[in-house]
Amino acid sequence: MVAKLLIANRGEIACRVMRTARRMGLRTVAVYSEADARAMHVQAADEAYLIGPPPAAESYLNGARIIEVARRAGADAVHPGYGFLSENAGFAAACAEAGITFVGPPPTAIEAMGGKSAAKALLGAAGVPLVPGYHGDDQSDGRLFAEAEAIGFPVLIKASAGGGGKGMRVVETAAGFDEQLAGARREATAAFGDATMLVEKYLARPRHVEIQVLADAHGTCLHLFERDCSIQRRHQKVVEEAPAPGLDHATRRAMGEAAVAAANAIGYVNAGTCEFLLDEDGAFYFMEMNTRLQVEHAVTEYISGLDLVEWQLRIASGERLPFAQDQLAVDGHAIEARLYAEDPARSFLPSTGVLRHLSLPADSLHMRVDTGVRRGDAISIHYDPMIAKLVVWDRDRPAAVARLRRALEESHILGVASNLDFLSAIARHPAFAAADLDTRFIDRHAADLLPRAQPASDETLALATLGVLAERRRRSAERAPQSGDPYSPWHLANGWRLNDEAQEHLTFRDAGERITVVVHYRRDSSYRLDLPGGTVSATAEIGEDGRLDAALDGVRRPAAVVRHGLELAVLTHGGTHRLSLVDPVAEAEAVEAAGGRLTAPMPGKVVGVLVEAGQAVEKGTPMIVLEAMKMEHTVVAPTDGTVTGLPFTAGEQVEEGVELIGFQPA
Ligand code: ADP
Repeated sequence: MVAKLLIANRGEIACRVMRTARRMGLRTVAVYSEADARAMHVQAADEAYLIGPPPAAESYLNGARIIEVARRAGADAVHPGYGFLSENAGFAAACAEAGITFVGPPPTAIEAMGGKSAAKALLGAAGVPLVPGYHGDDQSDGRLFAEAEAIGFPVLIKASAGGGGKGMRVVETAAGFDEQLAGARREATAAFGDATMLVEKYLARPRHVEIQVLADAHGTCLHLFERDCSIQRRHQKVVEEAPAPGLDHATRRAMGEAAVAAANAIGYVNAGTCEFLLDEDGAFYFMEMNTRLQVEHAVTEYISGLDLVEWQLRIASGERLPFAQDQLAVDGHAIEARLYAEDPARSFLPSTGVLRHLSLPADSLHMRVDTGVRRGDAISIHYDPMIAKLVVWDRDRPAAVARLRRALEESHILGVASNLDFLSAIARHPAFAAADLDTRFIDRHAADLLPRAQPASDETLALATLGVLAERRRRSAERAPQSGDPYSPWHLANGWRLNDEAQEHLTFRDAGERITVVVHYRRDSSYRLDLPGGTVSATAEIGEDGRLDAALDGVRRPAAVVRHGLELAVLTHGGTHRLSLVDPVAEAEAVEAAGGRLTAPMPGKVVGVLVEAGQAVEKGTPMIVLEAMKMEHTVVAPTDGTVTGLPFTAGEQVEEGVELIGFQPA
């Protein structure tokens, strides 16, 4: 058995692998980049080694360096997690050469499935059903276009080396083909260093259903049922569940058998996943095999009762799988939601910054939170912006959905933008409750899912006001003992006046609207608040833990109000509501600073300049393409206007906040 395990990864997956390793009595070794010196995965390990600067290419992707560390630390096995080196056949082979066990499949199996094109050719020959398409070697524009025409539009262009939805473009008509092909190639080159494309029929309304397989080195290959990962945004999974709702027995069995056949066709060993598209008519088609642990493996662990990392380690140590297919059964229903630092209001642009506040539900029998960050940690541009995976389990799907809703309501994040409200909207959506799932779920329901700025309710405004007042009172109470006369009425922060009931106006900005709350101070330190919808009486204290202990008309309202300068966030079980306190001077400055400038939303590289200086453009015209975090973002004209300057050319690196383009609104 493995005794000392090096985890060649970071973040939540490194922490998750270590949890099982520790439970099994293994010693754990972490590796980290300079950006991660204080990261959670470093502290969770028995030992940790610095492997290089922040960019992944110089640290987490430096296989030679990692093997050297494994040797030095005396680790006898390496777990690659997902991403980074997990599907790198060269790394798996180098581990073997160094006498270190790679916790994953043999290099030959990784290689066989490494390119989507080659994998399809291989499995097509083995009788596994494929989506009609072209996955050949001729990569000329003309050939790819001719194949697309033969397949019939709409088609999907996919990077053969792809993953995470990168380098993938839907082409609706022949007219858009060239542009989408160029975009897909650019993205694939940037992300994978390989521009090989395949073209296939774009199915109208498929579900993404994948099968978890587990194979030992003694010829036993089993499947651990399916996961439905149809809730996707830009072909990236957002919510996953197991089992797939409504999947009939026969289809489950047929898909399981196809997955096992695919694994056997390439001599697969260890945990892997075969991804399929399940069409409306019940036909299913193989898409690709991921030769590693998947992000969403936890839902399978819940319904199968098996710890997949434990079985990865046992299989890597040469153990036999001690159960047969017919001894496995699905238990209950599990759902995972991926919490990302990204801003739904800005086309889901990754959001970087420090997590000033992070509260996630507590682990329980029904709830599992996998994360690699804590309050105070930074989400940086260097790595995947995932904050946590919230995984719930219950006896059946409706109960699991209810738990997911509750878990999302109990989560709060400040400091970076997040998709929390977006996930909540999915979990609350009637079509999700009805399990009406397919891969265009998010597109179809976008209008319901994208956060529309809900105006602050009276309750939210009251809590924000009370938060400000209670905080002010606490601060002045802290200051009072330092002055000569701690009992001086000047230290009272309750607006106390002789003879009359004092009042104060607090003005908030709520999604562009100004709202004023009138606070009347009462002698018993309670307040009367005049709110847009009426008047309430209120009391408020700040508890030991910083939470607000407030009562509105005698009803306690658990909440927290987090303040950062003029920015306020009111956290309740109903979610997070952001407001700002109005300070006219600061506002005027901010407006001036932002006036008419088109700035880089994050550090990145200019990959395309689509306009010329002096050109008149209409609102919405794509002007500059920026690549950040391996994804492309297009900066469009905010209004009709004229391009007045182009300070950058393609290939240049830009910092966050620099002016990308000179623009004069019409
Ligand atoms: P990646 O490796 O980048 O994740 P996949 O090949 O696994 O790419 O596909 C990701 C998603 O793209 C699928 O889950 C599905 O939603 C969509 N997709 C892929 N192929 C097709 C297709 N032929 N028709 C419709 N949707 C597709």
